[in-house]
Amino acid sequence: MASDFIPYNRPYVTGKEQAYIEEALRNHHLSGDGPFTRRCHQWIEQRTGCAKALLTHSCTSALDLAAILLDLKSGDEVIMPSFTFVSTANAFVLRGAVPVFVDIREDTLNLDERQIEAAITSRTRAIAPVHYAGVSCEMDKIVAIARRHNLRIVEDAAQGILASYRDTPLGAIGDIGSFSFHETKNIMSGEGGCLLVNDPELAQRAEIIREKGTDRGRFFRGEVDKYTWQDLGSSLLPSDLTAAFLWAQLEDAERITRERLAIWNRYHDMLAPLEQRGLLRRPIIPGHCRHNGHLYFILLPPGIDRSMVLGKLKDQGVHSVFHYVPLHSSPAGMRFGRAHGDLSLTTSLSERVIRLPMWIGLHEKQQMRVVEALGAILGR
Ligand SMILES: *Cc1c(COP(=O)(O)O)cnc(C)c1O
Repeated sequence: MASDFIPYNRPYVTGKEQAYIEEALRNHHLSGDGPFTRRCHQWIEQRTGCAKALLTHSCTSALDLAAILLDLKSGDEVIMPSFTFVSTANAFVLRGAVPVFVDIREDTLNLDERQIEAAITSRTRAIAPVHYAGVSCEMDKIVAIARRHNLRIVEDAAQGILASYRDTPLGAIGDIGSFSFHETKNIMSGEGGCLLVNDPELAQRAEIIREKGTDRGRFFRGEVDKYTWQDLGSSLLPSDLTAAFLWAQLEDAERITRERLAIWNRYHDMLAPLEQRGLLRRPIIPGHCRHNGHLYFILLPPGIDRSMVLGKLKDQGVHSVFHYVPLHSSPAGMRFGRAHGDLSLTTSLSERVIRLPMWIGLHEKQQMRVVEALGAILGR
């Protein structure tokens, strides 16, 4: 095992997925909002305290739904980090809105709340904080800014399931939140996601948008005698087969999170000596944030050639990756968005990130190999 190639990710299955999919087949309810979807909704509502959970095909489609729900119009502005996945921006751009990119903090690589207010204009409608690596943004400050300027908050909590900020679960802090259940996330169904509606006044319309703009949800609950076209919408609900798979993962979500945290903590201990020698920087978790072990990244010292490091890791059988190419420096970034300030930390930090192999079942000996390889490459 020790000399095997160490992959960057290996999707984890609990073993119950297949039985639940077979149960879904026996239920004869394969389309959306069947018994497994209801169980998943209830679980997410109970664990996060959100007013309404709605499974979607992906976090991307949850964010698309959020942008429709907020009635964003052409020229409206949404403040977000540039250091994020494209979906945070695309959802709003699809409504004609303009992403306004604000720099990140040096410690957590999260949206720098101290720079938000200066980026607000008369067109600003919302803030989209991204909880990078399942570590919360400074939500007290962001919520206060949003209240002061009458802005909505859409949390991109794609990586944030079962993580919290001052004991409030991520995704349940803003007006709207979103989770991803993509294969690379802690809890997954291949592709999958969830919208968390925290403002109860938005709940009914969210349900309608997700069901092709109809009140089909009310019809199935017997609240209306037919369902009709009510609003804008699309088909954003996953089949109950996907929900059956997801249910197996949610049932075990606490254990999965504990196991990821154990692996994360092992890396953190093993890498401390390299940090002390100035060879890399480890993640910084603020004391009031409880994270979920979603990913372990290191920051290379400035000026080190990252592709050289990734190449040498690969030569030693370790598959590591980097992300994100900042949105403001991507081909579509300045076509659709606007930069606030020079985004210098976004540029410099994003060039230094390496994500280490992280998956359930990753053995301590394999982690030792990763750390030794890093030490050999960086220490010479
Ligand atoms: C994974 C991810 C997404 C997209 O999630 P999908 O479910 O693949 O659509 C969006 N934002 C962030 C920050 C992510 O990490």
